[in-house]
Parts: sequence; C-alpha cells; structure tokens
Amino acid sequence: MRIVILTGAGISAESGLGTFRDKGGLWSQYDLAEVATPEGFARNPHQVHDFYNARRENAARAKPNAAHVALARLNGTDGPEAAIVTQNIDDLHERAGSRGVIHMHGEVARSLCGACGSRWDAAPETHPDDPCPECGNCPTRPDVVWFGEYPYRLDEIERLLRNADLFAAIGTSGEVYPAAGFVETAHANGSRTVEINLEPSQGASRFQDVIVGRATETVPVWVDGLISGES
Ligand code: NAD
Repeated sequence: MRIVILTGAGISAESGLGTFRDKGGLWSQYDLAEVATPEGFARNPHQVHDFYNARRENAARAKPNAAHVALARLNGTDGPEAAIVTQNIDDLHERAGSRGVIHMHGEVARSLCGACGSRWDAAPETHPDDPCPECGNCPTRPDVVWFGEYPYRLDEIERLLRNADLFAAIGTSGEVYPAAGFVETAHANGSRTVEINLEPSQGASRFQDVIVGRATETVPVWVDGLISGES
C-alpha cells in the first residue's frame, strides 16, 4: 500500500509548538504580513530574523511526541511505508526517526542566501547580514517558504499523490494552498482519504474518513491499524 501523509502545525502542537490559526496561535500574536512575506522581509529583515530565531529556539527545545513517533513506524521495516510531506518547519519527524521527510515549506534550521540561493545549516541565531558561506554576500534569510512564494518539491509531491492508495492529512487546517488541495488530487486518482484533526477542519467534507481527537491519541491507534492491516 502506498501511503502519503501530509502533516501540519497540529501534529507539533502537543510538543509545545504553537499552531498558526488556532485561538492564541502565532497569527494572533504576530502580523503575518510583517514576518512571513518577502515584502515584510524587505521592510524589516531584522524583525523577520528575530521571529524565526525564536521559532528555531522553540523547535530545538521541543521533543517529538507520540504522533511523530507513531508515524516513524511507517518506514517499511515492520509494515507499510509512508511518504511524509510536512508543512512544518520544525524537525520533529526526523528526530522521531522518519526518513526522507519532504519539507514543502522549508526548515527553520536552515539558512538561504538571498543572493546566490545556497543553503546551509543555520546558526542558533541568524541575522540578515550573515555572509553566505558560498558567495560571501547577503541578505541571508531563513530557508522557509513565505506567503506569496512557491512551495518546495511540488512536482515530486504531485507524483506521490497520483500514485497513492491512501492519503492522510494530519493536524492541518486545510486553509493554505496548494497543500489544502492535495486531497482532491489524491481522491481524483482513486486514493482513499482520511483527515485526522483535533476537530473537523473546514475542508473535512472532502475526505472519506474523518478521525477527531488529539494527534498523540489518534495517530498511534491509526498507525497500529495500518500495520496490523485492520484499517
Ligand atoms: P494551522 O495552524 O492552520 O492548523 C493547525 C490545525 O491543527 C488546526 O486545524 C487545529 O485544529 C489542528 N490541531 C491543533 N492541535 C491539534 C492536536 N493536538 N492534534 C491534532 N490536531 C490539532 O496549521 P497548518 O494547517 O499547518 O498551516 C499551515 C502553516 O503553518 C504552514 O505554513 C506551516 O509552515 C505553518 N506552521 C508550522 C509550525 C511548525 O513547524 N511546528 C507551527 C506553526 C505553523
């Protein structure tokens, strides 16, 4: 069985990393136009680095939770194998043991040269005038995809979705495209679809199955079912 799993901020919520759109989420504390757009970066690059320096510190302190650990069991050694596509910029899937995770919105632990496009492991604290190790120029920016930018590896994700037998969206509000449209691509190609979320998302009706609850409780049970062949 070919499984594609899309994860969002909700899977990392119980690791202490705030989601974006929930009550008290990051977008109620920060102006997304100022910290997560190319225009905001052009206006005030120091403020954007400060925002992502805080995200990087929080992510480094956080620990993978039972949902990340359960998904890492879908690595083909004791049952089905899943491709994990995440909108998250943290590395909790990798630290739980998942391999080949596709970070379609980039990674907060990486830096990107605004001059030559080189990427490298970010220092714990970064600044716009950090010189690029490749070309020596700047500005340096976090290697994350901002609103108005094109997500990474979409062709590869599209191929995975077209060939999937099962598509699961976990902990995502389904409000950010193109990820919110993955369910349609998977469904159109004959895949079963399931949403696993704290509450049914606005797009829940587009899924065949909806599992409601905290990811640390629902995901391990769902993975057990996949491995035993019961779901
Ligand atoms: P979102 O904030 O829009 O939605 C999160 C969803 O998770 C909501 O539907 C909410 O009901 C659900 N949720 C909350 N707690 C949950 C739990 N314990 N168990 C299961 N579900 C839970 O997040 P999104 O859909 O991922 O939005 C996309 C954007 O958010 C991406 O661009 C991503 O980069 C960014 N983001 C990433 C992180 C991270 O890397 N950890 C954190 C915040 C936002």
